[in-house]
Amino acid sequence: MTQSESKTDVLAAIVAAYAARQDVTADDIVSLVGKLRQEFGDAASAPAGLNAPAPAPRRATPAIPVENAVTHDKVYCLCCGKGFKMLKRHLGAEHGLTESAYRAMFGLAEDFPLVAPSYSERKASYARRVGFGKYDRREARPERADVPEKLKIS
Ligand SMILES: [Zn+2]
Repeated sequence: MTQSESKTDVLAAIVAAYAARQDVTADDIVSLVGKLRQEFGDAASAPAGLNAPAPAPRRATPAIPVENAVTHDKVYCLCCGKGFKMLKRHLGAEHGLTESAYRAMFGLAEDFPLVAPSYSERKASYARRVGFGKYDRREARPERADVPEKLKIS
């Protein structure tokens, strides 16, 4: 018998004896197992599901480097390396992924862009034109002051 096996056996015996008591709740057992694991170390990882750490999400290897995945006009799919104005539809259609599943898969931040910057700029300026959001009519007029002095017609 190895040392870790005997630790596990001891742990199992303690937990079994404790669980047999009438006044013990499931929460008591969970906290006991947690304390015992601290005492015995990770070898005593016995009852499965109790205090088991969540497995780290498996991170996929990107098809292209993440730092190259966003250009002004395109965002590149890290699954297949193809470039798009927006990834959402491609991810769903080609890879069966939601945006959040895609982010999780490659460990991307919540604000990692999945839409090309030029595309979202166009949408924003369109929204301003049709009057959504903060909008000041006076700012929409062409500014004479922006025209270089020598081009002005006097
Ligand atoms: Zn793809």
